[in-house]
Amino acid sequence: MEFKEVKIPAGDLITYENGKLVIGDNPIIGVLRGDGIGLDITPVMQTVVDAAVGKAYDGKRAIAWCPIYSGLEGLQRYGSEFPEESVEAIRYLKIAIKGPFTTPIGEETHVCLHCAHQQYHGGKCDKCGKDDGVCERFRSINVRFRQHLDLFACVRPVKYFKGVPSPNKYADKVDFVIFRENTEDVYAGYDFERGSDTAKAIIELIKEKTGREIRPDSGIGVKPISEFGTKRLVRKALEWAKNNNLPSVTLVHKGNIMKFTEGSFAKWGYELAAEDFGDTFVTEKALWDEMDGKMPAGKILIKDRIADSIFQQIQTRPGEYSVLALPNLNGDYMSDAAIALVGGLGLGPGANMSDEVALFEATHGTAPKYTGMDKVNPGSIILSAEMMLRHMGWTEAADMILHGVEKAITDGHVTYDLARLMKGEGREDVTEVSCSGFGQAIIDRMS
Ligand code: NAD
Repeated sequence: MEFKEVKIPAGDLITYENGKLVIGDNPIIGVLRGDGIGLDITPVMQTVVDAAVGKAYDGKRAIAWCPIYSGLEGLQRYGSEFPEESVEAIRYLKIAIKGPFTTPIGEETHVCLHCAHQQYHGGKCDKCGKDDGVCERFRSINVRFRQHLDLFACVRPVKYFKGVPSPNKYADKVDFVIFRENTEDVYAGYDFERGSDTAKAIIELIKEKTGREIRPDSGIGVKPISEFGTKRLVRKALEWAKNNNLPSVTLVHKGNIMKFTEGSFAKWGYELAAEDFGDTFVTEKALWDEMDGKMPAGKILIKDRIADSIFQQIQTRPGEYSVLALPNLNGDYMSDAAIALVGGLGLGPGANMSDEVALFEATHGTAPKYTGMDKVNPGSIILSAEMMLRHMGWTEAADMILHGVEKAITDGHVTYDLARLMKGEGREDVTEVSCSGFGQAIIDRMS
């Protein structure tokens, strides 16, 4: 395939055959630097991954990185922050990893992709003075990647790292992966203003069809959840549990209140498990009705929980959960609440996936005031790369990175953000290191 700016390096193109990724020893993987501190964290991530892969496979495997340009780099190369070519290149390569991208949030008409400053004119940035980074306001680059590539599953592993100050007594038991549906529910929802023709028409229709009264001064929201959307998300969660030998999958919903959206999410999830995974999964009902509560060896438990109770459970009994599958809105709340359990830090990794394409990402923003200072914590993108290696089946290299991160933190070789918190907890043996220094600390501790 020919691209204008993207140069495909020598290596093995990843393919998708019979429902599986086929990955050679030199896979070509897309890398999008991102804006702001993407400049600092992305190269550190690449160095750490290269070291882990080299060490784990004795030089027999290596990643061929393929730079892809969006955000500031897209603007400078193509004149657009979201070039079509970047979408096509990710689609072509099937796996990519990215830093954070600037997203305009205010009402100003222009934003600077160097420093995220927003203003009412193009040309030179009023804050940083640069004249090659200001562009007209746009919709989130992250959201557009998700939509253009139909990345329907947002995957967020949440894990406690020993030594990180956490507000939760049971933080050390937290080690689960959240699968949040990315295309339906409120993301595909409609919101109609009170008094609008549509809101009035819906209120009348509901009265006519069900006899129920809705107050006429109500705004009306519609949230679709489909069988198709649910099953493809739950399939991903079940596959993850199976491929990573995890003990359970929990379907989270609010079906006690909304039977045909939230409730159906759980119903279709159970159906899918039975249809596609045979007897790999045991339902909680079968476990107690037929097996006296004794889980058969090699099987995975599938259970469901009401959304409000799961927010208690992840705090009081986090060890009972390993994979959680949720519709969009509850998944949004859950992702942030869960990260808070383990210290609320920018260490959390993430990815957005379809069946064929996976885009791994740093989950924090561009933190522009730290750009180019080699200061910030590259943990989020490094752990996203660790997740990417697992997705590729390169678990030995992934384990090396995980071990390196764990050891660097327990040894107290950490960036300023963690150093401040750890010192605040009274630890005296903390060595504050730079962004690249943290990468080196991980490499030095890989085993
Ligand atoms: P942010 O996450 O960039 O920064 C908030 C604060 O968190 C920073 O000032 C810094 O103190 C800290 N921080 C963030 N990442 C860190 C790291 N790796 N190491 C140490 N400290 C870190 O959030 P913001 O300031 O609200 O947003 C800045 C820009 O990033 C905005 O344009 C926003 O839209 C965008 N953003 C992008 C993403 C993404 O691409 N996934 C996510 C969130 C925000």
